[in-house]
Amino acid sequence: MFPSLVLVGYALVTNVCAPNAILGCEHWMISVKEVLVSPSLGLAHPVWIERLPWLCQGCTIRGVDADLYDFGFFSGRSSLESVQDNWSTLMGATGATSVVHGRQVHGTVIRAHETASAGLHMFPDCDGHVTASVGVLLAVTTADCVPIFLVDADRRAIAVLHAGWRGAAAGILEHGLLALREQSGSFPADLLMHLGPAICGDCYEVGAEVFKALALPIPLRPRPINLREILTEQAAKAGISLANITVSEHCTRCTESDLFSHRGGDRGRQVSYIGLRP
Ligand SMILES: [Zn+2]
Repeated sequence: MFPSLVLVGYALVTNVCAPNAILGCEHWMISVKEVLVSPSLGLAHPVWIERLPWLCQGCTIRGVDADLYDFGFFSGRSSLESVQDNWSTLMGATGATSVVHGRQVHGTVIRAHETASAGLHMFPDCDGHVTASVGVLLAVTTADCVPIFLVDADRRAIAVLHAGWRGAAAGILEHGLLALREQSGSFPADLLMHLGPAICGDCYEVGAEVFKALALPIPLRPRPINLREILTEQAAKAGISLANITVSEHCTRCTESDLFSHRGGDRGRQVSYIGLRP
């Protein structure tokens, strides 16, 4: 069993969320601020990078205007050639020979990858990936949605999921947990979870349809929701220990985190990636 992440000596900030009128509960979220590893590798979990040296994990940053580090094949911001170059740069920086990615549709399809030949592999409609194979880099792209990282440190099994409100409502996390269970025998209690850079609870105002989909009380006018808080609650209900859940301090919209934000007017995409090092 991997020890709790709440350790003296790490730059963790433990926040108690204010009693949440929407969720009708009060719970803990452990906030962490990712560390910038390099322009190519972007931001990495500050504890995992120290304590899980066999893991390759991170979220890229947007680059500068003249040279955006855009990974969106389908978002139409950058040329196909430029996007392909950026994926090649990331593969070179991580040392990965194979990367798996999919066309994301805010659904719940998760793909398990036992092996992958060299290169970037694009899969039709899917919003998550799991593997226990060394050298296969799993990738999802985001620009406000939540990248969910899951790690079973004992079994060396990993996942990355793409969760917007539709995915959260449809149960993308539950499907990801099931995929890890089927692939590696991982139980939720065995897992570490990190919710990466995404839009924060102050910046994400949504309408009644979102509250309805998430089975929350429907407000009279648009109100903000905190997707990462909702996902944390889903994870805790599924059996992941709150002590093993961390949440990025970065908001794609309002912090100086140098990230793409769809609501902020960006069409580019950062990539969240995770893999087992050879
Ligand atoms: Zn924000």
